[in-house]
Amino acid sequence: MALLPDTAIEYMKGVGPQRAESLKKELGIHTCWGLLNFFPYRYIDRSKFYTVSELHPDLPYVQLRGRITNIESIKGKGSRLKAIFRDETGSVELVWFQGAKSVESALKPGEDYVLFGKPNFFRDRYSIPHPELELLSHFNAGIKGNLQGLYSSTEKATQKGLNSRGIEKLMRVLVPEISGSIHEIFPASILSRYALMDRRTAYEQIHFPASVEQMVRAQFRMKFEELFFLQMQLVRLKLTQTKKAKGFVFGEVGEVFNQFYKEFMPFELTNAQKRVVKEIRKDMGTGAHMNRLVQGDVGSGKTVVALLSMLIAIDNGFQACLMAPTEILAIQHYQTLTEMLGLMPVNVRLLTGSSKTSERNEILKGIAAGTIHILIGTHALIEPVVEFKNLGLAIIDEQHRFGVEQRFKLWKKNTTPPHVLIMTATPIPRTLAMTLYGDLDVSVIDELPPGRKPVKTSHHFDSARIKVFGFMEEQIKLGRQIYVVYPLIEESEKLDFKDLMDGYESLSRRFPLPDYQISVVHGKMNPAAKEIEMQRFADGKTHIMVATTVIEVGVNVPNASVMVIESAERFGLSQLHQLRGRVGRGADQSFCMLMTGNKLSNDARLRMETMCRTNDGFEIAEVDLKLRGPGDLMGTQQSGALDLRLADLAKDGDIVAASREAAQLLLEKDPDLTLPENQLVRQRLAQMVKDRPNWSRIS
Ligand code: ADP
Ligand code: MG
Repeated sequence: MALLPDTAIEYMKGVGPQRAESLKKELGIHTCWGLLNFFPYRYIDRSKFYTVSELHPDLPYVQLRGRITNIESIKGKGSRLKAIFRDETGSVELVWFQGAKSVESALKPGEDYVLFGKPNFFRDRYSIPHPELELLSHFNAGIKGNLQGLYSSTEKATQKGLNSRGIEKLMRVLVPEISGSIHEIFPASILSRYALMDRRTAYEQIHFPASVEQMVRAQFRMKFEELFFLQMQLVRLKLTQTKKAKGFVFGEVGEVFNQFYKEFMPFELTNAQKRVVKEIRKDMGTGAHMNRLVQGDVGSGKTVVALLSMLIAIDNGFQACLMAPTEILAIQHYQTLTEMLGLMPVNVRLLTGSSKTSERNEILKGIAAGTIHILIGTHALIEPVVEFKNLGLAIIDEQHRFGVEQRFKLWKKNTTPPHVLIMTATPIPRTLAMTLYGDLDVSVIDELPPGRKPVKTSHHFDSARIKVFGFMEEQIKLGRQIYVVYPLIEESEKLDFKDLMDGYESLSRRFPLPDYQISVVHGKMNPAAKEIEMQRFADGKTHIMVATTVIEVGVNVPNASVMVIESAERFGLSQLHQLRGRVGRGADQSFCMLMTGNKLSNDARLRMETMCRTNDGFEIAEVDLKLRGPGDLMGTQQSGALDLRLADLAKDGDIVAASREAAQLLLEKDPDLTLPENQLVRQRLAQMVKDRPNWSRIS
């Protein structure tokens, strides 16, 4: 019987019921097609042999040639099988902790073997646990190239003979048998534009590459295909949204906007701000539904862009809302906006979880009646009781704090969904944004307001604290204010609280009353108390603000020019960058001091070095992405979208961009996928949508 893609894996020669079970349960492989798509994670060069004398603790896997002697079975507790593997240059111990019996009976002392394994260095000696062994006489049978794929496996699967070699043997049966059923899926135009290897060859070469070059081309083709279908879904989603979801037409820039611009604008917009406002105006003026992400580094001036957009909504007879992730930030937005608006006839209100009932009721009435033009708040805004008369624009600040679910609720506030503007200060590398926000339009404010001095960042070990305190004192004498921030990680909230209070005490001793005033803000305080402390600091009444990361997002105190980050090694790069963005907002030179313990992991050291080297949020985001991987970077809720088999969003940015371009070109020419050459693409997409019904809600 010929093998077909759909053939259940147990019908394949060499599999049988037990191994089939293992393939399904352990490796998630159910059909021949599934097995074919189980790609090597790495390749070894079969022509490269090491000798025992060349072994080195840093070597990952090595291939050796030699003979086996001294087979010894150790019984009882810690039972294992030992043997010595010897070549001309020396010997190394082999160990098996499992399956000793079958290994022992299969070993042929005196014969030449090829060994493959990972050497461990322990007590002055190398040993190789569970090596893969093959008789030299069998070694070259049936192999064309020098590269051999390594397949990942599990311990249980290995016991059923499905280690890397075992899987490779199955592939040797499968690939030639099934290759007749592998058909090209891309139209010729895509194949030629991106110089893609054809699909059948790519499957053959990815398992059994004839050369490094062929392997690279095969991988490129496979990654491209994987990313292409991801992008097809995103681009299509975006197209249908713009087509289907009608948006309100904000045709006019009217009196409110113009009056504000002429009489109250506190500064000249930067060119980047102007460009982004123009993009937003264009979106909202067309009758399509706006779904735009505005990325701008901390301090780039997103707030005023939000305000101007909201004024356009008001000019067209609509209400607008601005949602922030924390109460402190909502309050700050409220203060900033009311201050900027001055005597403008715009009714702005603040609604948060701690608004008093009477005030709350009054606000709800005003919202329903349309007398309130702009509503600012936290999650409280999306509760069902909040009913707008005509919400035309919803702005979400610091989007990464909001779940997908919450964004969805905002959408449903009207029958015609309001225009949506998302503002984030977490710069996302462009190619990652293409995937995570693939259905959104993206604007970037890539310019800081004039006159900003870049923050000077330095790294200090805890042991140098006295010096840091001295520096703080100097700065306070110059009239500056200082943040001292402690990490807050939920799992160890108690410990963090203790760190913070200990730190507060030692600061109080070093900076005693009445000459020095210190504020504290942490998660255990109630919102009103927090606000009072924040306000005292903002008003310049206190010199030092000791806080957990509650201040991370958005807070604006221009006179604060020193940011001391305690246990900085416990923060991720993007968080460090966000925190640093709290200073450098005024005219003074600002400083960021990263405090860490003396012992740092390589990863932590790289984070500190990166922070000291650059202020560029995008550069930092790139490093962050490489260090942490995209899933972590974006929080878990989105990681489903990133569950890629082969492509790596951190490393394959170019392929992401190419595949997105290909998807866009194809859909431009054939939006409904009706052309004959696109039928296979269409079928594949239909299948993917069926397999993943919730896909559209990811971003
Ligand atoms: P973010 O993008 O981090 O939200 P903000 O909107 O809080 O930044 O702006 C940071 C600071 O820069 C604020 O004090 C704001 O008033 C000021 N600002 C914004 N745009 C300009 C500009 N074009 N010229 C001068 N100052 C500006
Ligand atoms: Mg902001």
